[in-house]
Amino acid sequence: MDKSPRGLGDGAPLNHEQLIGAPLRWPSEKALAQRPKFGGRKAEEGAEHLGLTTVGALLEHLPRDRREARTVAALVPGEQATVVVEVRSISSRPVRRRGMRPLVEALVFDETGPLQVTFFNQPWLVKKYPPGTRLVLHGSYEARNRFRVSSHAPTADEIGAGDDVAHYPAADGLSSTQILAVVREHLDAARLAPDPLPGRLRARHRLPDMPSALLAGHAGQLEPARQRLAFDELLYVQLDLLRRRARRAEEVKAPQLPEAVAAGEVDLVNEWITQQLPFELTGDQERAVAVVLGDIARGHPMQRLLMGEVGSGKTVVALAAMLRAVANGYQAALMAPTETLANQHFATLAELMPGRAVPIALLTGSTPAARRRDLLGKLDSGELGIIVGTHALIEDDVLFKRLAVVVVDEQHRFGVRQRTALDAKAAGGAAPHVLHMTATPIPRTLALLGYGDLDVTELRELPKGRQPIATHLASGERDRARAYERIREELREGRQAYVVCPLVEESEALAARAASAEYERLSADEFADFSVALIHGQMPSAQKAEAMRSFKAGEVDVLVATTVIEVGVDVPNATVMLIENAERYGLSQLHQLRGRIGRGEHASVCICFGPKESERLAAFSTWNDGFKLAEVDLQIRGEGELTGTRQSGMAAFRFASMPEDGELLERARLSARDILEADPELKLAEHVPLREAMERARGSLLAATIPA
Ligand code: ADP
Ligand code: MG
Repeated sequence: MDKSPRGLGDGAPLNHEQLIGAPLRWPSEKALAQRPKFGGRKAEEGAEHLGLTTVGALLEHLPRDRREARTVAALVPGEQATVVVEVRSISSRPVRRRGMRPLVEALVFDETGPLQVTFFNQPWLVKKYPPGTRLVLHGSYEARNRFRVSSHAPTADEIGAGDDVAHYPAADGLSSTQILAVVREHLDAARLAPDPLPGRLRARHRLPDMPSALLAGHAGQLEPARQRLAFDELLYVQLDLLRRRARRAEEVKAPQLPEAVAAGEVDLVNEWITQQLPFELTGDQERAVAVVLGDIARGHPMQRLLMGEVGSGKTVVALAAMLRAVANGYQAALMAPTETLANQHFATLAELMPGRAVPIALLTGSTPAARRRDLLGKLDSGELGIIVGTHALIEDDVLFKRLAVVVVDEQHRFGVRQRTALDAKAAGGAAPHVLHMTATPIPRTLALLGYGDLDVTELRELPKGRQPIATHLASGERDRARAYERIREELREGRQAYVVCPLVEESEALAARAASAEYERLSADEFADFSVALIHGQMPSAQKAEAMRSFKAGEVDVLVATTVIEVGVDVPNATVMLIENAERYGLSQLHQLRGRIGRGEHASVCICFGPKESERLAAFSTWNDGFKLAEVDLQIRGEGELTGTRQSGMAAFRFASMPEDGELLERARLSARDILEADPELKLAEHVPLREAMERARGSLLAATIPA
């Protein structure tokens, strides 16, 4: 069998011969669909568990790494090891105990010496492994040249001592060596594996064809094989996301919301921006507003992700879209994940619209029943143009007359079902335009995976006059005394401060207790001369709202808080933040917290207590840029834990892993775009295998990766 893979790793483009090296017949899916036999109930169960139910699946089951085979002479008593040997003689020996099958004993050797090996319960091996057979054996060495075999496989290879043996991910009842044996039996079928990628694409990206990749993977060239399979996997997902987006853009209808004015009238949105808005838009905001208004002017639903640093002014962009809806006689809703945040948005919107040209209202879980009834009536009649709220907005009895624009803030904090529940309330069964907002910067790689079906707009430029934030790491009593003095200095200047209490993962109640104790201590001692308030998640909403109001109004100097202040709180006069046990927070959470300061004309300072050797805190004190921090975060933590991504979808890859395969993902994205540009429905002959492969994969890979 030719083991040398075509076009692997050497960096040279594939030549014509290599490209058509695959069999000159249509690849046989039949051979690949057969069920491999593993022998024995336990082994079959193990195979089932690993999903090795077809030859195709078996061949895609690549070794994890290569385990070095020992020489016989190098075996150490009591140790588990792999050896590659040749059979000299083999025989079975009856066992005296009744009901036991005979033992099989064999004398085997490699170039360093002989070894007596014992197989249990498998009398047929005497016939299967006649003298001269080369074997890979895994088991334990028991001194005096005796070896108890736990798994075994024949090998045709001239693997010598010190060479590597493929090491497969195994399961209970099915060892790596057993898998190796069955893989060897079926390896020839790899030549029949259909290749979903068009040859031209493969050549451009210097990827081996599928049969070569599979053969190479089992023969030891793991990385190129894994990359080929990972590329396919990423390509399917990107194709699916892009097709979904294209379909939505062409087929799904949404209300058309043009710059709607009869002759002689002034457009509401333009008038608001030029006449009412208390400041000038940043360049990024202007561009974002233009793009969003462009989106909703078309008759197909907008699905746009607006990413922007805390304080970058996303709400303005959202308001522009909402006003455009109202100007066209439609309604708009903004949904936020928490009550604090909804309150804050409501306040910001009121501030952004001093004239209050459009009626707007707030609906949350703590809206009194009578008020709620009144609001629902006005939404149903269409009298109310804009509503801001929490999950309270998606309850069944909330009906809109003509909902056209939906804004979901911090959208990753909602479940898929919650996000789509608002869509269902849109006018006349049409889809609404949806603007997703997030202050959690998402590295491009993750954005492509999690949001590849959305259009993305970033606000990177902060509003003018914003002062940079200096971040200091602190620890120990001396630093602490200095930190409080620094805060008092700011307070004497008329500024305000946040003290953020340690995160208590175990329970909200504990966090609340810790915050209350800190509040008592600080108001009696360090900040006795100032006014101090407390806010935490366990307080009744009215009390929370009052704490926020008095802090915002400047009646309170220091706000002692848990992470309830993480998002949305906007007090430009607050210039200091002290974070306790900063090491307990994730980077993105720290960044969110810090975004509460540096929002006004004064320079701000953030003081973090925590171990100075923390990699995360070092990064945090070095970078102010959320995108940079998100990348660092991804490097430190890996894909799984990053917040702000559709996490459910991230871990589902079999071959790809992020962020390491970020570059491969970019290539898959570009390829997907090229393919669909030429052939949106994947109907061309050269794309038939691709379409079929995607359909085969849909049951597992794609379904797990993309939330419906
Ligand atoms: P985000 O939601 O992106 O964190 P907001 O939309 O809440 O930010 O805006 C933060 C604050 O900045 C608000 O008080 C808002 O009024 C103000 N703001 C927004 N855009 C500008 C701008 N272009 N110039 C000055 N202030 C702005
Ligand atoms: Mg905001």
